[in-house]
Amino acid sequence: MTRLIFLGPPGAGKGTQAQRLAEVLRIPHISTGEILRSAVADKTPLGQKAQAYMDRGELVPDELLLDLIGDRLNQPDAEKGWILDGFPRNVSQASFLEKLLQELNQTCNCAINLEVPDEILLDRLLGRGRLDDTPETIRTRLEVYRHQTAPVIEFYRERALLRIIDGDRPMEEVTDSLEQVIMS
Ligand code: ADP
Repeated sequence: MTRLIFLGPPGAGKGTQAQRLAEVLRIPHISTGEILRSAVADKTPLGQKAQAYMDRGELVPDELLLDLIGDRLNQPDAEKGWILDGFPRNVSQASFLEKLLQELNQTCNCAINLEVPDEILLDRLLGRGRLDDTPETIRTRLEVYRHQTAPVIEFYRERALLRIIDGDRPMEEVTDSLEQVIMS
């Protein structure tokens, strides 16, 4: 049973790698960024509440996401395992998830931090051209990452669940390393 949490700064390649692994393992890839972007595109109540935060590069408020994650992990397809990408993004989300998994009688295998140097992140984010990838929001998102998301790495290190992978390599090599970590 594979249950993985993907950590790492914006532009680290979490989405790409999580997607690939989820396909190989035939388990759901749960990306809060994707869920939110499609809510915005569909103009759902969630999307309407989240959009302004996302446009500024800030985190959307926890209360918009916590129930959503609870519901998602309760879906039948998540019984076979899952890869969480983009959640948890602050320590309160990490504590919430820890309790949720206890309630669901699930344990995650590990939290994987994809490490990539800042200057590479900037190049990647500026090159990718997503709507929320303007120089202004990118700066905010990297700040938010340092202040709110980096402490989540310590949260998992304290629980001996942290695995670190060098994300500054060709995509295939990163995928190979990830597969090795999961098999080990
Ligand atoms: P990236 O690939 O740059 O890390 P994501 O696609 O994961 O970005 O997320 C895009 C945006 O969605 C974030 O900037 C944030 O506003 C919002 N978001 C995604 N996940 C979360 C979360 N767990 N908590 C709060 N906001 C989130």
